[in-house]
Amino acid sequence: MHEKCGVVGISLQDRDAARPLYYSLYALQHRGQEAAGIVTHDGFQQHSHVETGLVGDVFDEGDLGQLNGENGIGHVRYPTSGALDKSCAQPFSVSFKSGSLGLSHNGNLVNADEVRDELAELGHAFTSDGDTEVIAHDLARNLLEEDLVRAVKRTMGRIHGSYSLTIMHDDTVLGVRDPKGNRPLVIGELEDGYVLASESAAIDTLDGELVRDVEPGELVVLHPDGTGYDSYQLIEEDSTAHCFFEHVYFARPDSNIDGTLVYDARRELGRRLYAEAGIDTDVVMPVPDSGRAFASGYAEAAQDAGVDVNFAEGLMKNRYVGRTFIMPTQDERERAVRLKLNPIKNTVKGKRVTLIDDSIVRGTTSTQLVELMRDAGAEEVHVRIGAPPIVAPCYMGIDMATREELIASDMSVEEIRETIHADSLAYLSVDAIAETLDQQRDDLCLGCVTGEYPYDIDGEATDREVERPVIQSSLADD
Ligand code: AMP
Repeated sequence: MHEKCGVVGISLQDRDAARPLYYSLYALQHRGQEAAGIVTHDGFQQHSHVETGLVGDVFDEGDLGQLNGENGIGHVRYPTSGALDKSCAQPFSVSFKSGSLGLSHNGNLVNADEVRDELAELGHAFTSDGDTEVIAHDLARNLLEEDLVRAVKRTMGRIHGSYSLTIMHDDTVLGVRDPKGNRPLVIGELEDGYVLASESAAIDTLDGELVRDVEPGELVVLHPDGTGYDSYQLIEEDSTAHCFFEHVYFARPDSNIDGTLVYDARRELGRRLYAEAGIDTDVVMPVPDSGRAFASGYAEAAQDAGVDVNFAEGLMKNRYVGRTFIMPTQDERERAVRLKLNPIKNTVKGKRVTLIDDSIVRGTTSTQLVELMRDAGAEEVHVRIGAPPIVAPCYMGIDMATREELIASDMSVEEIRETIHADSLAYLSVDAIAETLDQQRDDLCLGCVTGEYPYDIDGEATDREVERPVIQSSLADD
């Protein structure tokens, strides 16, 4: 089950964690709109409130009031497929012989079925088909035999794939990032405590300071009294596999991930797009909101090159319509685009327009927008995209589409141009992405744009030697 989600964990000195958790989840709402939850611990017992719905609808004063304790974790969830299923909502919590566990997961395991089968044979009963429960059971089992750090290390050696986790073992909050650092996770410092979150925007919301990213393969243990944290580098690999699409689309522009402010990355990608495939038209227009930073970088690069471009917000967005992908059928998706975006006719009529967006997935949005532009009187419509063509599915936790649905999986750029009826179409190169993010290609997960994955996935190619995790000797198993 692919899980594009947001996670958070907080330990405070003399204040309940529920409200700061709630605010953090609001800050991470873009990472998942289907369900939200908080689990806290008051030193004696766990308190949990997990429901389907948006953060603002899931919690009321009463719910927050009963979530006692200075330590807690939270989650927002949006799974790719399947019916709304409360059994998959998180944080997942479980009580076992040596205490209680709560777990929030962002990412996707590639060997969950194998680990689940193995645990089921040992007598573990599963209530959902989600990855998170598999991690929780594996960890619970290891905790019967090992201390916390060794138990986490053992679980990390068993599960493969992408995971940023916040975990609560009794009243201790932990953060874990998978050895390739696929999904983001950061540490922040508050006046009276510490926070772990998918994105730094959540720390800003709490008036905290970003300390740093959690390192790939690192375990961070927050002190339950809110006074500090300990770090354990449990697994080290030769390369990372940071998801480039976090920077392109998924994360908030005001978040800082792996050393790069997402907004700056998007603007620079826009500049590169102009350098690689700029076309001079009367108007440069972002597809709101995802294309905005790209378009401003693109227009700036054009101006630097001495071209007199008119940067115009020619598409107005109805902010009350959810993300297009929430609509399950193609017909509904098409209607959603019309509901969501409306052109300002004066800025379009009689003009040659360049439309800028971050990505084309199924092609629904660009097809509709090119048509909208023409209906509004545009003379020419050119489309520029701030990412390479998405040719293959994401197995690592971003809810994308199946291979059959991806317009670029079996069409050339020219064929896509024809399909979306644009006068011209160009995408950004993979190299521009790596250079802008200041990463080697081998340190990024580029699976959706190359079809080669950094993980061993059944039926798919891999872009590297699949590495065995190297366990740090100081904590190595006997
Ligand atoms: P499509 O209409 O299927 O081609 O999707 C492209 C549009 O969806 C672009 O405006 C993107 O900003 C946006 N988008 C890209 N990836 C995703 C995703 N994983 N979930 C929801 N929307 C996305």
